[in-house]
Amino acid sequence: MSDREPDIARLRRQIDVLDGEIDALVARRDAIAADLIRHKGEPPYDPAREQEIAGRDAALWLPLLRRVRIAEGARHALTSQKPGAFPAGGFTLIAGPCSVDEHLEQNLEVVAQAGLAWVRAGAWKPRTFPWSFQGEGLPALRRLRASADRLGLKVVSEVLSEIDAPAAVELVDVVQVGARNAQNFALLKQLATLGKPVLLKRGAACTIEEWLGAAAYLDGRVPVSLCERGVRGFDPCFRNLLDLPGAVLARQLGAFQTLIDPSHGTGIAGLVAPMVLAARAAGLDGAMVEVHVAPRESPSDGNQALAVEELRELARALAPEPLGAAR
Ligand code: PEP
Ligand code: MN
Repeated sequence: MSDREPDIARLRRQIDVLDGEIDALVARRDAIAADLIRHKGEPPYDPAREQEIAGRDAALWLPLLRRVRIAEGARHALTSQKPGAFPAGGFTLIAGPCSVDEHLEQNLEVVAQAGLAWVRAGAWKPRTFPWSFQGEGLPALRRLRASADRLGLKVVSEVLSEIDAPAAVELVDVVQVGARNAQNFALLKQLATLGKPVLLKRGAACTIEEWLGAAAYLDGRVPVSLCERGVRGFDPCFRNLLDLPGAVLARQLGAFQTLIDPSHGTGIAGLVAPMVLAARAAGLDGAMVEVHVAPRESPSDGNQALAVEELRELARALAPEPLGAAR
């Protein structure tokens, strides 16, 4: 045993050196690929090239159901995670009002005072009915950026359309693709060229495979994080059915940083904190929650918003995690 030890140590060192060289090569490749995409000036999708890449990895196109059911899949520990939109290694809590409204400044102060680094708020709102509050668009996003900057907060905000995306990405740190646009491939292709990290929500009727397929439009082009926000269920008690195992499975299979949004995922403010804690216990990477200083005055989703004290309590329960601060 003892005369083998020096050998083992030497072999481990060799592997460490090789790992370092591989990391450096991958980083160089990523930089060149990013440069290439920037210079193409058009969506970087060449079907022949995509086929060629996929062809090198048989598992990639093995139907997901088979991959999950045969021993692989969720049982395998993740060895490395793809670059996500948020700092790696911690649990990121993003909070903010559903939409940018007259209470924006107070809402953001609450988020900052709770010790969070990331704020959310929508400038364009995807609403079921055209007579509901639609958001105030670019001027609202400008207000959000200015208030967040005053408080040192980073911004996650949804862009609904390709028309607004180029201007919107200049004003956010992470651009959100909402559930209704989860399979808007034209928007995804465009965002792949705009250079901003993307938080990709799961569509309310997307399978895990479809969700990962949507993420593949962005993967390798911009940092991507997934966000499980509930799927269409059968019980009217819930606005949506938060699929925690689905989030864990997507993370395992796709190696994407994966968060949950229990506000939209349940529609019930009282379930938000327990679901965030469950997500952290399950090894997920973060959560996005809605909070409002005067929920009844919120023009959208007031009834699922956390009250100020509830957000503070949740932040305390998660401490001493950095809650999204860069390490
Ligand atoms: C939101 O986060 O404001 C939102 C509209 O979420 P979703 O797209 O998940 O419904
Ligand atoms: Mn909302």
